[in-house]
Amino acid sequence: MSAKTRDSYLVIGGSGFLGRHIVEALLARGDVVSVFDIVQRYHDVPFYGGDISEEEQVASAIEKSGTTCIIHTASPAAGIQDPALYWKVNVDGTKAVIAAAQKKGVRKLVYTSSAGVVFNGADIIDVDERTPFPEKAMDAYNESKAKAEEAVLEANDEDGLLTVALRPAGIFGPGDRQVMAGLCQVYERNQTHFQIGDNTNLFDWTYVGNVAHAHLLAADKLSETIAGTLDLEKVKEDIATRA
Ligand code: NAD
Repeated sequence: MSAKTRDSYLVIGGSGFLGRHIVEALLARGDVVSVFDIVQRYHDVPFYGGDISEEEQVASAIEKSGTTCIIHTASPAAGIQDPALYWKVNVDGTKAVIAAAQKKGVRKLVYTSSAGVVFNGADIIDVDERTPFPEKAMDAYNESKAKAEEAVLEANDEDGLLTVALRPAGIFGPGDRQVMAGLCQVYERNQTHFQIGDNTNLFDWTYVGNVAHAHLLAADKLSETIAGTLDLEKVKEDIATRA
């Protein structure tokens, strides 16, 4: 990519666990980065305080920072008993981000969805992005993430805003405030001698640095490929040709 065409990034949720790793990965390769979040935890990049459900606040940050690519990682944490909050932030908030991006002529939007959008509590093995959303989502968090993802992909416009959604499963690594805290709580409550299932349950975990890297790759590839859903048949053909 030439210096002329380099993007200027706005990491929404950039004070969070994954968002911060994305900021650091962008800084490490010399990119221009700003953060939009309701809280400020770092002071090394321009910060815009605001709530994504307020379209004007997002639009103002886009304008002031000269954003050409948004990476939207903001969400309330999973597991909160507050469906209205999930709807407000994940559904209405993501729609406000899309609207602000469209109005301000942003070229790219990368959305952090979740593998949970296809999970209804029953085992799922060997699925890919063709798997439909379940009729009944497992909980309000996953339902709101699915609705947000749907809105992001529907907004994809080859001549306007290019969009993509990524679906990480569990994320681990430095800066995590959820997974390790939960494990420690189990230990502190003396619950470690209870076993759920037959001890062969599997779950996907990805190192946070790799999830951050995937977001940068997705942003880079958006300008080179048709955004949104991947043509899996074409990908398989490409792989077969190379083999
Ligand atoms: P996190 O809580 O560490 O970070 C989220 C950030 O979003 C926080 O800094 C928070 O202040 C900000 N935020 C929340 N509401 C906001 C609002 N209304 N306006 C602006 N900012 C707001 O969470 P994380 O673990 O880094 O997760 C990042 C993303 O990855 C989320 O979208 C989450 O759904 C998704 N995800 C996380 C995991 C995981 O294991 N952590 C797994 C799958 C998907």
